Amino acid sequence: PQREPVDLGQVVTGALDMVAYGLRSSGIDVDMDITPDLPVISGDRDLLTQVLANLMINAQQALMDQPAPRRIALRVRREGADIAIRVADNGPGIPPDIMRRVFEPYFTTKPAGVGTGIGLSICRNVVEAHGGKVSLSNRPEGGAQFDITLPVAPAGA
Ligand code: ADP
Ligand code: MG
Repeated sequence: PQREPVDLGQVVTGALDMVAYGLRSSGIDVDMDITPDLPVISGDRDLLTQVLANLMINAQQALMDQPAPRRIALRVRREGADIAIRVADNGPGIPPDIMRRVFEPYFTTKPAGVGTGIGLSICRNVVEAHGGKVSLSNRPEGGAQFDITLPVAPAGA
């Protein structure tokens, strides 16, 4: 990936801008909790924006036929030497038997033409190319939660 100083708070709000119209049409409320003035990371702003937009669209699709309230929560904060990004929804969550497979290329539970199954594999590749990690869990209160950690750029890099 390209290496430029990237403000991940801006990446998350930029990704949200890209999908906000669709989220609003689906009656989804977005809760944002972004720590201001976070240190930058070194990376590719466009690829990272794509990753976040992907996670939000997955959440939107998971919420599609769920009863209101439909919610997506976005959080960006510093955790030690990392920036941590969380994308959580209050949809149906991910069945335990497929949790390990969702990052595989072409794994999808969506009908042909809706899902290609490559979104999460690309997300993982992009995050790992930045020296980061992405993980998935189900929230105790219901819904899926994706956690990304990306290392803060070393000073002077
Ligand atoms: P696609 O969206 O094309 O199916 P992805 O790689 O983005 O491919 O996702 C793979 C699968 O992971 C989805 O088909 C779905 O079963 C599951 N998934 C991803 N995000 C969520 C979510 N937020 N809630 C529930 N299931 C999800
Ligand atoms: Mg997808």
